[in-house]
Amino acid sequence: MRKQSGEMEPLVDPDYFFRKLASGIPGILSTYWLSADGEFHRYLFVSDQVQDILGINANELRENADAIFSAIHPDDLEGVSASIADSAMALTPWRYQARLRVNAGHFEWFEAHSKPERQADGSTIWYGQIHNIQHYKNLERTFRESEAESAFQATFQKLIARLSTEFITLGFGAIDESIRELLKAIGGFFDVDRAYLYEFSSDYQIMDNTHEWCSPGVLPLIDEQRNVLIDGFEWWHEKISEMVSDNRIIFVEDLTQMPLGPERDMLEQQGVCSMFCVPVRVNGAVTGFFGVDSLRKRAWREDQADLLIIVSGLLSGALERHRLESELLSQSISDPLTSLHNRRYLMPRLNEMLSRSTRYGERFTLAMFDLDRFKHINDSIGHLGGDFCLREFANILLEQTRDADVVARFGGEEFVVAFSDVSQADVRRTVNRIILSVRDHDFVFEGCVVPLTVSVGVAAMGELSSIPATPDPLIRLADDRLYEAKQAGRDCLVDASGMLRI
Ligand code: GH3
Ligand code: MG
Ligand code: MG
Repeated sequence: MRKQSGEMEPLVDPDYFFRKLASGIPGILSTYWLSADGEFHRYLFVSDQVQDILGINANELRENADAIFSAIHPDDLEGVSASIADSAMALTPWRYQARLRVNAGHFEWFEAHSKPERQADGSTIWYGQIHNIQHYKNLERTFRESEAESAFQATFQKLIARLSTEFITLGFGAIDESIRELLKAIGGFFDVDRAYLYEFSSDYQIMDNTHEWCSPGVLPLIDEQRNVLIDGFEWWHEKISEMVSDNRIIFVEDLTQMPLGPERDMLEQQGVCSMFCVPVRVNGAVTGFFGVDSLRKRAWREDQADLLIIVSGLLSGALERHRLESELLSQSISDPLTSLHNRRYLMPRLNEMLSRSTRYGERFTLAMFDLDRFKHINDSIGHLGGDFCLREFANILLEQTRDADVVARFGGEEFVVAFSDVSQADVRRTVNRIILSVRDHDFVFEGCVVPLTVSVGVAAMGELSSIPATPDPLIRLADDRLYEAKQAGRDCLVDASGMLRI
């Protein structure tokens, strides 16, 4: 007959079961005893796994717990002792993570959990367990790293998005400021000391440092790096041709590994430890490069080159667009026959000069030129001959005026020169010089010498009875005087003081 379960007698003693149970747990069960004065400690019980896991004999620990403490990583030892003391004092559960030297000789992370109980003699006993958490630590680290990586990628993407938006919405004339802003943002992001942009001359013999950003306290090099002759830098020459023909990156991870030569001397002198240069292309051709310098040794990310290529792509796009816009702009504001500014450019400039004159009381004078009997010129040497004369006259105007004067073709054979802050006498001198130059110039077209003269009407803002809202009244006055000059027999000027012919 079978006995009822309640009456079942133990097959073996409970100690046997307990040890069996302890051996099935993937950690170390322990009962740690600490004397009241904290001088002595031992394990009243410790699973036999302590031998397999830490290489410490369980019996030894039953005598003295020192062996387990000497397996603790030196950096964690103080924390372990302090937390045990705290737990003993307040009788709060002891939970701690520390590195222990495992059987294989290296350290792994363990976590201990145990509950203290004060004994009648003042000593304390903790009942609990220690288990390996290296796996979680590894996961934790992987997670932290991938989190840091995602954050890095996200920040980089945000930065690129911001910079490209900036370039897309770039106002005309703002490109330099935007490039400097990009260098600053990229330099800061990659934690380098310098970020720069160079432009090559079309024959790749000269490189010009057009933009630079330096981290605080780092010496700027831009002033000594304007229009540098590449001649004599053999290594650099080779790198540049690789950059130009193969779109290669120049990467010097550690200056001390660079071949000896003038390039290395120069970089050493600049304090550079490592650098990256990425070609910048405009319309398919390499026109320069973008680069970063680090003044200290550092580890680069594996994908650093790819990230910098993205930045250089951004710069390429912006420079390409800028070039296209400049071309379109100069086409739209210049006269194709003479290359002088056209009327579209002139009118806003006159408005600008007018408001400066009103605001600062600067003298503002307009001279209107009209070639004499030009119809006759066309009739005698043909339209192409006429065109030739117009170009020659445009050159005379440019030769005889200063850069600050605005010279434009107003239309047909009429031209305007606007003077800012020039006295009546000086304007007169300049205009007379032009009249004389035209009279004395040999306009030779297809072997024919063409006699040509010009008449000029000059008007200054101060002569108008009131300040006009637009430059039109000034143009009209100059035009009226030009008419007077024609009436007076041409080849002369008329200004506020009347007609002048030399
Ligand atoms: P005036 O001394 O009174 O100024 O006589 P003009 O013949 O110069 O006067 P008008 O204004 O009647 O004639 C201007 C001529 O300039 C007429 C036009 O054929 C010529 N012209 C205007 N634009 C051009 C151009 O681009 N090329 C050439 N070849 N001729 C032009
Ligand atoms: Mg005319
Ligand atoms: Mg004319």
